[in-house]
Amino acid sequence: MGIEEKLPSGILLSTVEGLAGYMRKASFWPATFGLACCAIEMMTFGAPRFDSARFGMEVFRPSPRQADLMIVAGRVSNKMAPVVRQIYDQMAAPKYVLAMGVCASSGGMFNNYAIVQGVDHIVPVDMYLPGCPPRPEMLIDAVLKLHDSIQHEKLGAHRAAQIEELELEALQA
Ligand code: SF4
Repeated sequence: MGIEEKLPSGILLSTVEGLAGYMRKASFWPATFGLACCAIEMMTFGAPRFDSARFGMEVFRPSPRQADLMIVAGRVSNKMAPVVRQIYDQMAAPKYVLAMGVCASSGGMFNNYAIVQGVDHIVPVDMYLPGCPPRPEMLIDAVLKLHDSIQHEKLGAHRAAQIEELELEALQA
């Protein structure tokens, strides 16, 4: 007989990693900002019809220090790039970046001097979401995939990878 069968009902067994992953994914708060038309779909994702509250995400945070997720919703102009980077730097690790739409992912149709050709030139991206604009259902799907990777991540692994990346950037600068 396994140990779980000997336990009284109502007792669950898990690992610290599993519990931490569950709590982190269930309180995954995005930073509040939008850059262009994709942001309208992001706002719809937070509104009652699509209801991001179902995933513990209704609290878009006005302070980057309280946010775990940066949704880059729209094209990033060269003028806006340092601001986006500053917001990213101010977020506490472990933090995640979702490039929403073709403009944020690769510059999209704005192949010109004014637009950053993919936000991964300024911040590390964890998830790319195609579309112009992606529908809220697609954003939900991307967020759930991120939830899944958070749930199965080794404790501290994401943070360690980000620190390594920042050290590499500092060496290259
Ligand atoms: Fe606008 Fe389309 Fe670019 Fe999104 S992907 S910012 S909807 S042009």
